[in-house]
Amino acid sequence: MTADQSLADFDIAIIGGGAGGVLTAIHALRLADAGARIALIEPVARLAQGVAYATTHGEHLLNVPARRMSAYKDRPDDFVDFLVASEGEDARDAIAVAYAERRRYGDYLRDRLQLARSGSAAHFEVLQDRVTGIDGEEGSGRLRLQLESGTELRARGAVLAVGNNPKPLPARGAAGLPAGSVLEAWDFDAIKRIPAEAEICIAGSGLSMVDTVLSLAANDHRGRIHVLSRHALLPLPHTKHAVAGFEAETLLAMPLRQRMRALREAARDAERQGLPWQAVMETARPLVRELWCTLSYDEQRRFLRHVVRYWDVHRHRIAPQVHAQLETLQASGQLRLHRGRLQTVAREGTRIRVSVSMRDRRSLELDVDRIVNATGVEMRAQLMRNPLLSDLLGKGFARPGPHGIGIDTCAEGELVDAQGRNLPAIAVVGSLRIGRLWESIAVPELRGQAETAARRLLAHARE
Ligand SMILES: Cc1cc2nc3c(=O)[nH]c(=O)nc-3n(C[C@H](O)[C@H](O)[C@H](O)COP(=O)(O)OP(=O)(O)OC[C@H]3O[C@@H](n4cnc5c(N)ncnc54)[C@H](O)[C@@H]3O)c2cc1C
Repeated sequence: MTADQSLADFDIAIIGGGAGGVLTAIHALRLADAGARIALIEPVARLAQGVAYATTHGEHLLNVPARRMSAYKDRPDDFVDFLVASEGEDARDAIAVAYAERRRYGDYLRDRLQLARSGSAAHFEVLQDRVTGIDGEEGSGRLRLQLESGTELRARGAVLAVGNNPKPLPARGAAGLPAGSVLEAWDFDAIKRIPAEAEICIAGSGLSMVDTVLSLAANDHRGRIHVLSRHALLPLPHTKHAVAGFEAETLLAMPLRQRMRALREAARDAERQGLPWQAVMETARPLVRELWCTLSYDEQRRFLRHVVRYWDVHRHRIAPQVHAQLETLQASGQLRLHRGRLQTVAREGTRIRVSVSMRDRRSLELDVDRIVNATGVEMRAQLMRNPLLSDLLGKGFARPGPHGIGIDTCAEGELVDAQGRNLPAIAVVGSLRIGRLWESIAVPELRGQAETAARRLLAHARE
């Protein structure tokens, strides 16, 4: 592809305007000199939503206290400051440890983007569009980005911050069901419209299931709620912040089995000292990435096969009040947790028959009015149903990450092509780096990756 001087030309094109893309734009605007040109490309009109912060419903809370959600590592109170500005200085201490409404986080990122934009000498454009392909331009060293609208743009560097897509419902027969009978857990408004008497089957028992149950509860739902999952593990609660006095670094030199044993032992020690087990996870949290990277390939595989379900419910915890609400619904019998694998779904008169194979080879049949798909995100790059990723994989500009999850990147976040070469002009931010980093989805990781990508690509543009 040869140079076309008439195309809009940018130093950095940020692809995706969810939290990861907006954090990258905030840092790029902060770091850029006058004359730098930055574009943010996102098909959704409102920025900083993605899946997590698109909810407009107050019952959906952050899973992390406000004091850990700042967009800036060096200004840890920034999100708290934003909330305090509308809720009052007297509430500061309570706000810092509370689990804010998720929609407020989107408001925060949009506000900080606006501030960064007005304080920056750089040129900044938001394009409401979707990137469908990237090519290298002969001679100029620039990238050429193809957009869904049919236009193209040139850029010296690009940031892939495209997040993940939900997995389709893993059941035979789903395509034959009437429209509206299978809902996506992330279609928050459709979940709100479920009639209060409806009997519901939620496939999946993670954080998306929790969102659905909270919306049903906020609507005074009266129908039965079946939660179906292969391991029947529900997310566990946070407790008051506490740090256990064990040396988490010692875990790094241990093989997987020994690490797990050491963590369990540390949890027992903590309890003997009157501390919750959560204190041990808090102590280990800053090391999660290193814990993953220091496992051998085979041990990582063993982790994915045998440990991940247990790890996830301990690591990705929920607000204590949300956990208490789930327990109350379970105790009342309205919410029933089933351990089994979803097999088929079929129309049965006006209802849906859900067939499940249970662990003990028994089968379970449920007749329900709605199914909610809360099976989470697709981690395998080839199945993500994102045309841009298909394009990059198809052209050999990208390859799947280790274990086939996400896409491959080097330590600094540069994309790695099918031949194993780093592509310094393309940086990756967010969950696509899961195969290399494992811990690559929450805000503390995103803001660090965003800042590194912005700094590196601005330097790359000046070369
Ligand atoms: C329900 C839920 C709750 C969460 N709660 C928390 C929490 O409390 N604390 C926390 O730290 N983390 C939380 N997370 C993690 C969360 O994923 C991240 O904080 C963050 O939302 C991820 O942002 P992202 O930009 O990487 O991806 P996404 O939010 O998925 O955004 C990706 C964006 O890219 C756009 N896009 C995709 N393809 C293209 C393309 N080809 N061209 C242009 N644009 C494209 C999409 O439209 C989308 O807007 C939560 C996640 C979920 C799902």
